[in-house]
Amino acid sequence: MTNLKPVDVAIIGGGWTGLAMANELAGRTSQSVLVLERGIPRKTADYALDMDELDYAIRLRMMQNIADETITHRHSARATAVPVRQYGSFLPGSGVGGAGEHWNGASWRFLPELFTLRSHLNQKHGAAKLPADLAVQDWGVTYGDLEPHYWHAEQMLGVSGKAGNLKGKTVAGGNPFEAPRQNEYPLPPLKDAYLSTLFAEGAKKLGYHPYPQPAANLSETYRNPDGITRAACSYCGYCERFGCMVGAKAQPSNTLMPLLARRKNFELRTGAWVRRIVHRDGHATGVEYVDARGEEFFQPAGVVVVATFTLNNTRLLYLSKIGTPYDPASGKGALGRNLTHQTDGTTPIFFDKPLNSFMGTGALSMRISDFDGDRALNGSEGLLRMGMLGTNSFGNRPIASFDALPRGSVKRNWGSEWKAAALKWRDRNAGIYLSGEHLSYRQNFMDLDPAYKDKYGDPLLRFTLDWTEHEHRQRAFANQIARKIAPAMGATVDDTQPPRGKYNAINYQSTHIQGGAIMGDKPDSSVVNRYLQHWDVPNVWVIGASAFPQNPSHNPTLTVLALTYWAADAIVNRYLKHPEALA
Ligand SMILES: Cc1cc2nc3c(=O)[nH]c(=O)nc-3n(C[C@H](O)[C@H](O)[C@H](O)COP(=O)(O)OP(=O)(O)OC[C@H]3O[C@@H](n4cnc5c(N)ncnc54)[C@H](O)[C@@H]3O)c2cc1C
Ligand code: SF4
Repeated sequence: MTNLKPVDVAIIGGGWTGLAMANELAGRTSQSVLVLERGIPRKTADYALDMDELDYAIRLRMMQNIADETITHRHSARATAVPVRQYGSFLPGSGVGGAGEHWNGASWRFLPELFTLRSHLNQKHGAAKLPADLAVQDWGVTYGDLEPHYWHAEQMLGVSGKAGNLKGKTVAGGNPFEAPRQNEYPLPPLKDAYLSTLFAEGAKKLGYHPYPQPAANLSETYRNPDGITRAACSYCGYCERFGCMVGAKAQPSNTLMPLLARRKNFELRTGAWVRRIVHRDGHATGVEYVDARGEEFFQPAGVVVVATFTLNNTRLLYLSKIGTPYDPASGKGALGRNLTHQTDGTTPIFFDKPLNSFMGTGALSMRISDFDGDRALNGSEGLLRMGMLGTNSFGNRPIASFDALPRGSVKRNWGSEWKAAALKWRDRNAGIYLSGEHLSYRQNFMDLDPAYKDKYGDPLLRFTLDWTEHEHRQRAFANQIARKIAPAMGATVDDTQPPRGKYNAINYQSTHIQGGAIMGDKPDSSVVNRYLQHWDVPNVWVIGASAFPQNPSHNPTLTVLALTYWAADAIVNRYLKHPEALA
């Protein structure tokens, strides 16, 4: 193993969180900042000729290679886990920019009560009435703490949207149920898709409050406060699972990398796979990594920031023996606890006219939040929390969108009758989607698998995860509402969908996997403190959705970025002046 020249800060992972943290630290201080990214370098020009659905969207060119490293999964602690060898209910990214290169761009703020959910539920229902296996916690940080950092992130990305609550005043056209914002969005909303207008009309007829999803796909040419100018979106539809060839979708490669490339105190090392954080007596001394040629290095560092996404954040802490592993039987230990995966659900709908659904962009969506949180629940549903409903117009591409037929409309799924039906319905189908809160439970957690290993011989991360009755009820409740909206928007609803059953690690639902290194105000029930600083090793900071104690109904990245800026402020303004535990 080769010993390298020390740096002040080593950041593991070059996605949204790692590069946003690097930009703050390298831009605001004279610290030497090194990002170690195990994937390849990336830039906007790489995407110019790459609108190939088979290669990118189906064979998943930009995702982590599961031949190198995957996870294992089981439904309960009594079962034996098996490796996920086929993607996958979520799609971790790899390479500079991480999943931020091929994300959709939906850029949400969370509801204020999400950050104090345990207190909220205790107050609303009484602690004794909550399910015994509920592991929901307060975050140790509030919406008020994060509001300025949300705004920082929205300006950096160039979010297109319409405020519904400006400084406490309801604004027409936006989401009236959102948390109060201090500023209107940097850009007006994206254009509406035809499907969006139909959904909005239908929802309004029923008295709901439709509004456009906030999107990091630019509705107009935009220059952000860092001086980065990007072009407006052309609604090409090759967005989710692709990098944007014109830079209209905010990606780390087109927002942060141009700034970092100019900084003399910044270095990016690609092909650097970190295997351990080295520490002694409660202090990290650096990291060990293997480069693309298989050579091993020790990189000494004064501060280590772990920014490798939920899965790898948790796994690296396990492999490095930092923190106390969670024991689901006793409830003791925090590392690995509160694994969640946002609740999804779809009610397929069909129209007698074409929708032009080939046009769209990654975050083009019309939503209603009338059932978000718990405002609309009266107790009879058997639900503690719900979520948002809406239609998506991400751009239906030829391969994946083919063969969406009303159930039972053809006798067999081959032959001329099937072909004619597939062509007929090709542009006449859509879905009303649920994006629901997934509460954390004692029995859902991550640890190291005792049997299966990655390409370097390190144990894989093991998921113990299953749906509970609560998530099944959320889906059934959403389906009831969707069935009312569909006729109001001129659509018919498919026959009843089969019930979801157990958690399926193969079928994609979203990459909103969270928990494992959660934040909180007590070291016995959280891994990092309210500043995302590790309780046991204060010069280690663990950033990303691994910190979320439970899973909101909203997509995570804007909050992940806001938390990164919040943590960066704590490092710059406090930790570097007095390197000690901040909480
Ligand atoms: C298809 C898709 C669509 C999405 N759409 C949305 C959306 O619309 N809205 C939203 O809010 N979120 C969305 N997400 C989620 C979003 O992409 C993530 O929240 C975000 O990218 C997380 O950023 P991150 O920096 O924490 O992790 P990542 O982006 O995953 O970056 C982590 C980086 O760390 C590197 N790494 C991992 N382990 C190591 C190691 N041991 N050594 C060195 N490097 C390592 C990885 O290669 C990767 O580049 C989507 C995700 C996917 C896959
Ligand atoms: S839909 Fe818009 S943001 Fe997405 S890849 Fe195409 S041009 Fe870029």
